[in-house]
This record gives sequence, structure tokens and C-alpha cells, in this order.
Amino acid sequence: MKIVVANWKMNGDCDLVSTFIEKINAVTTTNTIVVCPPVALIGQFKDFRYSIGAQNCFYEDKGAFTGENSPKLLKEVGCEYVIIGHSERRAIFNENDDIVFKKWEAAQKNGLSSIVCIGEKADERADWKSVLQRQTEKFIGKNLGNTIFAYEPVWSIGTGVIPTLGEIAEVLTFIKTKVGESTCCLYGGSVNATNAENILRCNKVDGVLIGGASLKPDEFAKIAMMV
Ligand code: PEP
Repeated sequence: MKIVVANWKMNGDCDLVSTFIEKINAVTTTNTIVVCPPVALIGQFKDFRYSIGAQNCFYEDKGAFTGENSPKLLKEVGCEYVIIGHSERRAIFNENDDIVFKKWEAAQKNGLSSIVCIGEKADERADWKSVLQRQTEKFIGKNLGNTIFAYEPVWSIGTGVIPTLGEIAEVLTFIKTKVGESTCCLYGGSVNATNAENILRCNKVDGVLIGGASLKPDEFAKIAMMV
């Protein structure tokens, strides 16, 4: 059983939700399927058979934080998961490891499963171990039963370039050594219906986080069914 997560980013619309629900509801699988649409579309997923996640949350439940999304309300409107620390949030919205950790704590408090994104940038490739060490440090020794780590090398996101299967296995082994062997770890970065099967068979990979290909319901349906 694998975990297959769709990250729509700031894409999609009501029409795509309808097509997506129709196609993915027809998929029979024991995999855990999670779709993370833009927050404005979450209410359109009422008839979805599988799980909904948010792409981000704030670290407070309520207050004068115009434009932010409360983890408490995300839970209330049906989210089971939340992505935290995506590289786009880190790069564009200046989220650092302290903020990522505070968001994780808020998600935990509200009973949301966190998908914590970690991964090195292109110029950090040679030094990936120190990057991942830094990004996982605060989580070490915590109760991570409700936490999934997604290894997303930033140089692979949206580029079509993926690490070798050996590299993915090596990095996930390193992460699990830090956060615990039983903690779920996903791979994310340019996953599509062609490369997903091999990635999902890769030693240590508990699932995949998919951006671009998750906006194509037929392609996402194929990956969702893989074992
Ligand atoms: C992502 O941004 O989380 C991602 C994995 O994107 P893509 O699949 O498009 O590389």
C-alpha cells in the first residue's frame, strides 16, 4: 500500500474538480489517495471518495492574520492532511525551518496529518546531507506517527529531471535514519505515469507527491492504481 498525493498548487478550477472526482472515484485501490487543491476549491470535493489535504496552513488557529488559513478550520471543512514547508513556500514566502516546525505543531494540535517537504536546491546537491539534517533536526525525537516526509529535490520539481532510483533510495534511507524507520517517506519531483512505477518500487519509497501530472486526471488515475 502506497501514498499518492496530488499537489495542484495554484492551478485547477471547478471544471477540473468535476472531471477529477469522476475519474479518481472510479479508481479501486488500497493505496492512500490525497488531493491537495487550492483552498478555494476544497468545498467542491464533497463527493470525493478519497482524502483531501491543504497545501499550507498558518501556525495559529485564529486571529488577525488576514489571508492565512487556519489549521483548525481546514480540519473543520474536511481536510485530513496538510502539506507543510513546500519548497515554493520556502523560496517565495520566506518560510524557514522554524516556521515550518511551528506549522507542523499547529497541524498536529488540530489532528491534521502533515506532509513535510524537504529537499536540497540545485546548488546544494553536493551537500544534500547537511540540508536534510538541518530540515529534519527539529522533528527528531518527536511523535511522528501522523507525519509524512516528502523528499523533493528542488532541482527536480517541474523540470523533468529526476534522481536515479539509487539516489532516491540513499536519500530516503538517510531521512529514515534521522526520523525513524517507520516514518513514511515520499518522493516528489517530476513524477509522471511513465516513471512512477519504478519509483514506487524503489526501496524505502512509501509513496509519491505529484505536482504537474496530478492536473491530468487520467494520468493521475494511472499512478493512483499502481502498487
Ligand atoms: C511539487 O511541486 O510538489 C511537485 C512534485 O511538482 P512536479 O511533480 O510538477 O515536479
